[in-house]
Amino acid sequence: MSSRRPSSVTIREVGPRDGFQNEPEIIPTDEKIRLINSLGRAGFKRIEVASFVRPDVLPQLADGVEVLKNIDVPGDVSLMVLIPNSKGLDNALKVREYYHEASIFVSSSETHNMKNINRTVAETMSDDKVMAKRILAEGLKLDAVIATSFGCPYEGRIPLDRVLGLAEQFAEFGATEIGFGDTTGMANPAYVADFFAAALERLPGVELTAHFHNTRGQGLANAYSALEVGVSSFGELGGCPVHAGSTGNISTEDLVSMFEEMGVDTGLDLNRVIESAREAQAFLGRKLTSHSILAGPVDWTGTLAAH
Ligand code: ZN
Repeated sequence: MSSRRPSSVTIREVGPRDGFQNEPEIIPTDEKIRLINSLGRAGFKRIEVASFVRPDVLPQLADGVEVLKNIDVPGDVSLMVLIPNSKGLDNALKVREYYHEASIFVSSSETHNMKNINRTVAETMSDDKVMAKRILAEGLKLDAVIATSFGCPYEGRIPLDRVLGLAEQFAEFGATEIGFGDTTGMANPAYVADFFAAALERLPGVELTAHFHNTRGQGLANAYSALEVGVSSFGELGGCPVHAGSTGNISTEDLVSMFEEMGVDTGLDLNRVIESAREAQAFLGRKLTSHSILAGPVDWTGTLAAH
C-alpha cells in the first residue's frame, strides 16, 4: 500500500469554542470549566477554550476570560484562543498569561468571509498580518485557520489554489500551524486526499490540521482520507456534537476510536474521552449523537459472545 499514514496523531479539542458557539443556549461558565478540566484529564494536549469575538455577536462565548482564569488543566496542556480582529487581540492580550496559542482566521470564500466578519478577504488578511506580528512578539504560538476550505454554501467550489495561496500567506506571517476547516460539511474523501497531498507539498514545515464537520455524515471518511496522505493533526469536537439537524463536527471520541483501532496513537484514553462526553451530555440535558457514547469502545475480549 502506498499509504503515508502517520503512526501517531495529535487531536486538538475545539469543543469548548467551536462546539459551545453553536449551542442554542448559553452554557453556564462553571460547566464549561468543568468540561475543559475533564478534557485535560482525558489527555488532550491542546484545547481551544475561548474566542475574543464581541460578546453581543456571540453571547455563548462572552465568558472567555472567566473561563481562562478558572480552568485547571495539567501544565503541559497548550490552551488556545481564537482572535477575530485587532480589537479582539487587544482584549486577549490583557489576559495573555492564561493561554499559549492564538489563532487568526479567514474564509477562503469572499461571500462567507463577508457574512461571517463583514470584511473582504484582503482586508482580513492585512489585519491578520498585523495581528500575527503582535501575537508572535508576545511569544505566543501563532495558528491560522482557513474556513470553507473545501467548499462554500454561497460560492460553491473554492479553487484549491486560492485556499493554499492564503495558507502560504499565513505561513509567511509566521503561522506554524494552519487549520483547514470544512465549515459546512462539503468535503468528500477523494477531494480531501487531493487537497492535503497538494497542501503538504506546498507548505513544508508547517503543521497542517484537518477540521471536518459531519454535516453529511462524511466526517470520519474525510479524516481517514487525510490521515492516509500523511495528515497527523486534527481539530475535533469531543463531548458535544451539536443539536440534531445542525452542522456538528465529528465527535472526537469516534475519531479516537477509529484511529486507535487502526493502530494510530492518539495519546488519548478513549474511556476518559467518552466520560467527558457523558459529562457534557449531562449538563446539556440531552443525548449526544456520537456512536462511541452509545456503543462504548470496541471490546476485543469477546466476553459478550459468551453470554
Ligand atoms: Zn468547526
